[in-house]
Amino acid sequence: MSIRSIRFGNMFMGEEGDKHPYLIDRDPYKIIDNLYYVGNMWCASHLIDTGDGLILLDVPAASGYPGLLINIMKLGYTVDDIKYIVISHAHTDHYGCVQALVSRCHAKTFMGRVDTEDMLANPERTARLDAGLGPYNEPFVPDVQLEDGDIVELGNIKMRCVLTPGHTVGVMSHFWDMEHEGKTYHVGIYGGSGYGSLSTEGLKKFGLPLTMQKVFVESIEKVWDEPVDVMLGNHPFHSDEFQKSLRAKKGEKDPFIDPTEWHRYLTELREGFEEFLNYTPEQGAELFGKTHFDEYYADFYAMEKELGM
Ligand SMILES: [Zn+2]
Repeated sequence: MSIRSIRFGNMFMGEEGDKHPYLIDRDPYKIIDNLYYVGNMWCASHLIDTGDGLILLDVPAASGYPGLLINIMKLGYTVDDIKYIVISHAHTDHYGCVQALVSRCHAKTFMGRVDTEDMLANPERTARLDAGLGPYNEPFVPDVQLEDGDIVELGNIKMRCVLTPGHTVGVMSHFWDMEHEGKTYHVGIYGGSGYGSLSTEGLKKFGLPLTMQKVFVESIEKVWDEPVDVMLGNHPFHSDEFQKSLRAKKGEKDPFIDPTEWHRYLTELREGFEEFLNYTPEQGAELFGKTHFDEYYADFYAMEKELGM
């Protein structure tokens, strides 16, 4: 199975990662200008220094909380610098640390209204998801419930939040412009790429409508024309972020800037999803039955070794 497919398959950490979450922690890195990665190798968390406080876009599951704090501190910030926490969708691996964080700082929290309402209306499903992704996860109610097209503005950043349902009923994608070395770049994160739960049985199991399969493809079309220069993912393996961070370490200039990646990625996502809908049970078991985490990261581990890390 190709790397292209496995990054959309089962990428949960596996047994070792469950026992020792710090094994998937790595140092934070700069993407461009005042944009940094502070998440771990499983759950993305992006930090933007807006000049008037920090925006955190997604936070890891609770098991990643110590690693997140250490990364924020390694960049020279404290939790009190965080003004806004924007959550892409109501899945634990994107909001698990929110309650812990806001108990220690005064950040305002944001998530889409559609996902918030769905989460609150389905506490059993939420609890099942929380429990399935490690200890200490808990749901939260955002201070601000975002609508399609809403702008989250802080300092010099205007982040546009676009409803792209499919992965959840209300997952949002995010877009904003940033200056980097005198030029403006359009940054984009596609919010809901995982389609593992969108099989007909999966939708039935979670009590979700079958129309989600059609909606998933419509959402890809909705954001197709975004002129994205810097593509990020809400899991780092969606945009090979860690590999890019090592390419930067090896001296490559601006590996995160690639205006061709957005369309390449959305095409992979769409084709992968269409294949997935026609999978035999054996193909499904191959992609979703066991974790592909280490397989996906094999080249990254090799690069780390080469760099003596
Ligand atoms: Zn999710």
